[in-house]
Amino acid sequence: MKPVTYVRAGSVAEAAAAHAGRPEARYLGGGTNLVDLMKLGVERPDVLIDITRLPLDQVEESPDGALRIGATVRNTDLAAHPLVRERYPVLSQAVLSGASGQLRNVATTAGNLLQRTRCAYFQDLAKPCNKRVPGSGCGALDGVNRDHAVLGHSEHCVATHPSDLAVALAALDAVVEMAGPGGGRTVELTEFHRLPQDSPDQDTVIRPGELITGVLLPPLPGGAVSRYRKARDRASYAFALASVAAAVQVEGGVVRHIGVAFGGLAHRPWRARRTEAALLGSAPTPEAVAQAVDAELAAAVPLRDNAYKVSLARDLAREVLGSLIARS
Ligand SMILES: Cc1cc2nc3c(=O)[nH]c(=O)nc-3n(C[C@H](O)[C@H](O)[C@H](O)COP(=O)(O)OP(=O)(O)OC[C@H]3O[C@@H](n4cnc5c(N)ncnc54)[C@H](O)[C@@H]3O)c2cc1C
Ligand code: SF4
Repeated sequence: MKPVTYVRAGSVAEAAAAHAGRPEARYLGGGTNLVDLMKLGVERPDVLIDITRLPLDQVEESPDGALRIGATVRNTDLAAHPLVRERYPVLSQAVLSGASGQLRNVATTAGNLLQRTRCAYFQDLAKPCNKRVPGSGCGALDGVNRDHAVLGHSEHCVATHPSDLAVALAALDAVVEMAGPGGGRTVELTEFHRLPQDSPDQDTVIRPGELITGVLLPPLPGGAVSRYRKARDRASYAFALASVAAAVQVEGGVVRHIGVAFGGLAHRPWRARRTEAALLGSAPTPEAVAQAVDAELAAAVPLRDNAYKVSLARDLAREVLGSLIARS
């Protein structure tokens, strides 16, 4: 068994210093994904840097009405926060649709964004997987791929990103805040997770040693309504086969604001820019909504076992957008 050193960081600087020069070090949030992967032998860190005591566990409002969600805010606390429930129901609903009550009590905001794919071949050391061992092949490509991607995949990887939270954040124009050896920086959530291309071992654009410190949520325009809907094999404790997050504002019969993202379809939360472009500034009739959703999903390339995802996502998106437009 590989020995692991445990370090409890008291500050962001201390956490970064403990990581410096150690490519196999890992930050430890709730541990609900990392520790599972260590048990499977997929992750083999030499140092675990516990960041749960850092002062990053608050949801704060800034004078412009934006919210800053600290990296270690627990999923349960995020979903229950009064400002999140009031202003961003889509976010609260997305978090509550994930995992279980016990897991959400422990899981953190940053850990949820950085959780690894649930592809069974990734978790099985006996199978080829370019994400786990670059160059070894992709077991899912010609294997059982019912749960895999229909958008943005490559011949090197067809995995999906499992987070529900990330899908809501993508629809809400959230921004990820990081601290690292090169200083602090921010990246839009929609650019934070990567498509697999020829380097699926890189899930995100985070750099070695960088620590997520928080997520910034801009205010939605007044009158905007939002919602998350997820389709899965069981009513709880199951990852999305397909999901939709949307925020919409309709004024004078015309769409003034729209953010739409799909989950369960791609290696990252899939922001539906074609759907948005088709509806923004137009009257959102049911026919227009149906065409706008179809315009996005026209890019889908299903695998052997997952063509059902395209019609599932289409029906979810039409229903969610229709219900929001009726309420806005
Ligand atoms: C049975 C089961 C069902 C689940 N179902 C769902 C579901 O339906 N939907 C869903 O969204 N999730 C689901 N999850 C996933 C769960 O939500 C994640 O395991 C959890 O959110 C990860 O958070 P964590 O704080 O425990 O992360 P950890 O396990 O602590 O960390 C995950 C990764 O993030 C890194 N990390 C953590 N914090 C930081 C930071 N601040 N900066 C940089 N790196 C960091 C770690 O090094 C590690 O690589 C499920 C999990 C289980 C076990
Ligand atoms: S889909 Fe991606 S994660 Fe799954 S086996 Fe292929 S390379 Fe690995």
